[in-house]
Amino acid sequence: MNGCNPTSITILGATGSIGLSTLDVIARHPERFTVFALTAYQQIDRLAELCIRFQPVYAVVASATQASVLQVQLQAAAVATEVLFGEQALCDVAQASETDAVMAAIVGAAGLKPALAAAKAGKIIYLANKETLVVAGALFMQTVQQNGARLLPVDSEHNAIFQALPADYQGDLKQAGVASLILTASGGPFLHTALADFAAITPEAAIRHPNWQMGRKISVDSASMMNKGLELIEARWLFNATAKQLEVVIHPQSVIHSMVRYIDGSVLAQMGEPDMRIPIAHCLGLPARIESGVKQLDFTRLSGLNFLAPDLVRFPCLKLAYDVLHSGHAASSCILNAANEIAVDAFLNGLIRFTDLASVSDSCLQHFSGQSASSIEELLLLDAQVRSIARTWVASRAAT
Ligand code: NAD
Ligand code: MG
Repeated sequence: MNGCNPTSITILGATGSIGLSTLDVIARHPERFTVFALTAYQQIDRLAELCIRFQPVYAVVASATQASVLQVQLQAAAVATEVLFGEQALCDVAQASETDAVMAAIVGAAGLKPALAAAKAGKIIYLANKETLVVAGALFMQTVQQNGARLLPVDSEHNAIFQALPADYQGDLKQAGVASLILTASGGPFLHTALADFAAITPEAAIRHPNWQMGRKISVDSASMMNKGLELIEARWLFNATAKQLEVVIHPQSVIHSMVRYIDGSVLAQMGEPDMRIPIAHCLGLPARIESGVKQLDFTRLSGLNFLAPDLVRFPCLKLAYDVLHSGHAASSCILNAANEIAVDAFLNGLIRFTDLASVSDSCLQHFSGQSASSIEELLLLDAQVRSIARTWVASRAAT
């Protein structure tokens, strides 16, 4: 809250898993928050319901046709929300002077431009869209700093680390006495599946995550552990960490959401139920703690807390991300992200196998090795080129 005024929030990707969890938290605190804009890509009926409930000033959809369908529905319900459409409209609502804060919860690189617009306008950014940092980490962090924006991590691991770091952390882990940041990973649904069965894994099985309810793309990424790989790169930028300062440990219960290891041997962990409303409420409430609607953790009901090292043979996507992280090559993480987005989409559509996910990314990384890109234009061009090569890979696989 800025003074006594409620925070006016734009939610990019309002109809998704994070968007809905955000609105659930907001609805518990009507005195603290107002909704400025809600955006969606496909689920127009769901967006209509949300507009009727939260009465935003603007709603943004993808196309003119969707916009007129939604506008008619809202007029029939006597809701005054103005409907806009297209990529520029996403940027417009993210940077509007009337909005204080932006929840960046679009999935994939499609979320980059509006998140960047919010950063340029110096907004408070609640960042769920990790792909923004994977595609353009250096540029995004620089834009945040130059424009006085405030970046708060929503991703549960990064939010946990943020909570376990000193409150005045200024971007120097060594100075803060930190030895390393430990990202926990559930290991997903295939942690113990026989490797011989991996090729037959179906999309339905891959999106059935044991602990978290999430969108389809991140669910597949969790099953392949590409998600943890993307999160390593996300952590690298958020906390100014080197590859050596980042660890991954598998913790199947997802009770510890991540940890900070200090040089004196202390390890600080943030724990809770696996429910994204916890990190969302933490970001939205800062500096206060606010109710999230999540039940308290009952330690007496926990079966135990287990930990194991990730197996990079079982999870080659994590290995690829490690290699990209260690290379320190900015264009490589853009390549990895674009190839992975095409691969996941193809897998969800039954065009390639689960075991092909890593192959698509690997072959794109090889195809574009040595390529460099640093401006937003160069990164978006590279992103488009990688998608094209990845689609060719998918088409050739689908034809066999
Ligand atoms: P989701 O698929 O449930 O929702 C995605 C949202 O983005 C929807 O509102 C959709 O309409 C919108 N969208 C999709 N494509 C778009 C496009 N091309 N242009 C504009 N809008 C588009 O996804 P989610 O699980 O809510 O994840 C959102 C982001 O948050 C992802 O980057 C994900 O990695 C991150 N995240 C999610 C979780 C989780 O628990 N779901 C946890 C941590 C981080
Ligand atoms: Mg996460």
